[in-house]
Amino acid sequence: KYGKLDIMLNNAGITGANKASILDNTKLEGKVAIITGAASGIGEAIARLFSQHGAHVVIADIQDDVGLSLCKELESAIYVHCDVTNEEDVENCVNMAVSKYGKLDIMLNNAGITGANKASILDNTKSEFEAVINVNLVGVFLGTKHAARVMIPAQRGSIVNTASVCGSIGGVASHAYTASKHGVVGLTRNSAVELGAFGVRVNCVSPYVVATPLAKNFFKLDDKGVHGVYANLKNAVLEPNDVAQAALYLASDESKYVSGHNLVVDGAFTVVNSGFC
Ligand code: NAD
Repeated sequence: KYGKLDIMLNNAGITGANKASILDNTKLEGKVAIITGAASGIGEAIARLFSQHGAHVVIADIQDDVGLSLCKELESAIYVHCDVTNEEDVENCVNMAVSKYGKLDIMLNNAGITGANKASILDNTKSEFEAVINVNLVGVFLGTKHAARVMIPAQRGSIVNTASVCGSIGGVASHAYTASKHGVVGLTRNSAVELGAFGVRVNCVSPYVVATPLAKNFFKLDDKGVHGVYANLKNAVLEPNDVAQAALYLASDESKYVSGHNLVVDGAFTVVNSGFC
């Protein structure tokens, strides 16, 4: 029309929603999530992130004081004492979530222990081995079972299990820990097949080493030492929130067709260290 443009006045504008972060913080708006082992480390990061995304959070742990104080910091949360090896506790925890919030959308089976760091199988006692299997694997079984009890009638739900790189490779942690995490990956796959028929998805997340109390105690190292244990990816440090972001994706409807998947968060550590992963 005029052959040129000298001035552009960009004036049109709307406010949009009043949200502090530039990120979309509504991925779990109104969802109800149980997180086991939420008083510390990765579970705590998951609880904080899920709460920021609008979820009602049930913090399930055996560290009552820490769990209760985290609960007070979150927008909408309750604390339930829940030893994941005790079926009554797990059943009660699921019932508490449903009676408080009316439903259960997300079950995050995250509680875990390493057991002692003993290289030789000859030094491992049966009871030490069983203790790790009980928390890490039987705990995930019980959490999956009781979540499924209420998710099947609802015909929807997302179960996310915290496995580990030790669920894909050997030789990194204790025999019991490695066996338990391989078990978690297997249980995830099996329950995904069964529960898919009821609209329930089951996935797991497999972190590399994260500097939480669990890893620091196991390796007897501080944060910096833990980061360097087997690090493959340069100029990046795996933090609890990185694992929480992966769990958020699997828990949310953004992954609505992802089930039976093992989401590895390890900077390609298992790719380098295994020919078959
Ligand atoms: P963490 O020790 O910081 O937290 C574990 C939480 O689980 C604690 O709050 C503890 O009280 C709770 N817990 C322990 N036994 C329990 C029981 N019987 N019932 C209920 N709660 C119980 O450890 P973390 O590193 O945050 O570990 C969380 C999960 O991540 C575990 O399953 C662990 O195996 C897995 N993981 C950790 C790493 C790592 O390097 N930190 C790497 C891969 C996978």
